[in-house]
Amino acid sequence: MGAEDIQASVVISVAMLVISLVLGTAMAIGWACFGRPRHALSWSIAYFLYGIEIIAVAVGTARPNLHPILEMVEFACILAAASLVAIGARQRAKLESWARGIGIAFVTVFLVNEALRHSVHPWWLSATDGLFTSVMLSIAIAAIRPRDREPEAAEWATMATLVVFVLFELLLVFLDMKGRLHPEDHRLASFFMDFYLAGLTPVFVANGVSANLLIASDLAAKLRALAASDPLTGVFNRRGFHEAAVRAVSNGRRHRQPIAITLVDIDHFKSINDRFGHTAGDRTLRFIARSLSRALRKGDLVGRIGGEEFALLLVNSSAEEAVEVMDRVRAGIAAGFLNEDMPVPVTASFGVTAVELGGGPAEETLAEALDQADRALYRSKIEGRNRTTLAVLTEA
Ligand code: GH3
Ligand code: MG
Ligand code: MG
Repeated sequence: MGAEDIQASVVISVAMLVISLVLGTAMAIGWACFGRPRHALSWSIAYFLYGIEIIAVAVGTARPNLHPILEMVEFACILAAASLVAIGARQRAKLESWARGIGIAFVTVFLVNEALRHSVHPWWLSATDGLFTSVMLSIAIAAIRPRDREPEAAEWATMATLVVFVLFELLLVFLDMKGRLHPEDHRLASFFMDFYLAGLTPVFVANGVSANLLIASDLAAKLRALAASDPLTGVFNRRGFHEAAVRAVSNGRRHRQPIAITLVDIDHFKSINDRFGHTAGDRTLRFIARSLSRALRKGDLVGRIGGEEFALLLVNSSAEEAVEVMDRVRAGIAAGFLNEDMPVPVTASFGVTAVELGGGPAEETLAEALDQADRALYRSKIEGRNRTTLAVLTEA
């Protein structure tokens, strides 16, 4: 390194230290303010470890007598930080964290590296942390990719910046190897240094910013889900059902797939409350929600849209098929709820209709279907309750 390189590396080190501390702090604030997700804490610690690593490098350069021990600290910090990035990503995905396996890998790589430090080519040692980091970040990328849906913007951003980080690490390992195998090639050595110094900060900042965005975007998704769900039964509330149903109707129209709507109203629910108390009434509501949810297939929706009224949307189902499915659920409910607190069966009435998939906006189409289902439900009520009625379609 020439004097200019040393000066540049000092400037970059100070910048990197500040950035690590800022990102670590931002992540810690994200953890504290955004519902304390464990992965935010793991990632926050990872940034602080990078900060310690930078301090170790700086002190080691200034105090050569401390160099050997600080080199160990530096190496341990890099490995531990990369491990925490992977563990955090798996915690976020609610997957098994692999903390044990990753911990064992970390300790093994660290010990083997320390044992071999003086007997192998130095390239192998410096390659170890780059390769270990690449593996850990790849684990993180795989965990951030959602299994059951398209990634959201912040997930795309985090995966993309991690991919860039991995490519950066691998390229550094490659350039380092070439440089060490050709020590006479000064242009290569200086290119390595320039690439390292110029690339590290942006890669680091991009990862930190996108990871913080991800934590905020996760919280927003959680709040959206809360705002759309009924706390008593866990199914959609009126608003959540409506939003999801409008989307489902638009989808069904696009794919020309039939959709059925069902309304369900518990029979004589007021008297259940009056005779057995409000708690028994609430338990009944949860029982009905569970029974209805069990009948759902992928893409179907259920919501509690009124006090003791539920709505279902069945995708890829004709009204006749829906009547069959729903009447089985109705029979199951009538046969199912008998216990010592409530020695009477609970029954519910059902009204089923097909969603008209031609013309008009999805909102209007849905409103019409709900009206028709409501009229069918009313017929179930006046004809004696505990029954399923198919709507008679009126030609517009
Ligand atoms: P019908 O068979 O005609 O539907 O009779 P019903 O008694 O079920 O109908 P009604 O609309 O008269 O009564 C609905 C009752 O639902 C009144 C209200 O006390 C009760 N209710 C509404 N929301 C809740 C709730 O969150 N928990 C409990 N326990 N009861 C509720
Ligand atoms: Mg009612
Ligand atoms: Mg009722």
